[in-house]
Amino acid sequence: MGSEFTCTLCGRCCNGFGRYITINQKIGGAYGCSLSLTKESFMAVLDPGRSDLFSDTSYQNEHPHACPFLRREDDERVICTIYRSRPVFCRDYLCCTGKVMRQDVLCGEMKGRRDLKTEDPGLQEEWICLKERYGSAADSDWKEEVRKALTTSGYKVIFYE
Ligand code: SF4
Ligand code: SF4
Repeated sequence: MGSEFTCTLCGRCCNGFGRYITINQKIGGAYGCSLSLTKESFMAVLDPGRSDLFSDTSYQNEHPHACPFLRREDDERVICTIYRSRPVFCRDYLCCTGKVMRQDVLCGEMKGRRDLKTEDPGLQEEWICLKERYGSAADSDWKEEVRKALTTSGYKVIFYE
């Protein structure tokens, strides 16, 4: 069972980033940009072979708050056209921090620092108790307690590396 996060290229994490990422100027083949959330300035260069896709702004018409560099590649994939030169914030971002399995079936996805997306009512209830008891603990202690408690309840807990 893999312990690395696999991005499905759904594009959701970038759909609101038009509010924060601004293209300030075009300098030759590059774009001088800023990311207001972190006050980061960065130079973006389209990844090789992405010019035509970038010229098609239909995705922005459908998603007016999307990052200006986000494009739909096909029905399945929404991609970052400046992936190689994306800002540090985007490089560090992980939408899921781990998953909870039972008998090889995915029961829940851990998001952010202490959130869980699950359809399993028992797991949901146990998660709420865990958050109440250990939510303010250091990350390493929190992970340890989550792993211990959910393993005892018959789940397998995988934190992404
Ligand atoms: S990081 Fe997560 S939200 Fe963003 S595109 Fe990948 S799977 Fe979707
Ligand atoms: S720069 Fe790329 S990774 Fe960052 S928000 Fe825009 S599309 Fe997403």
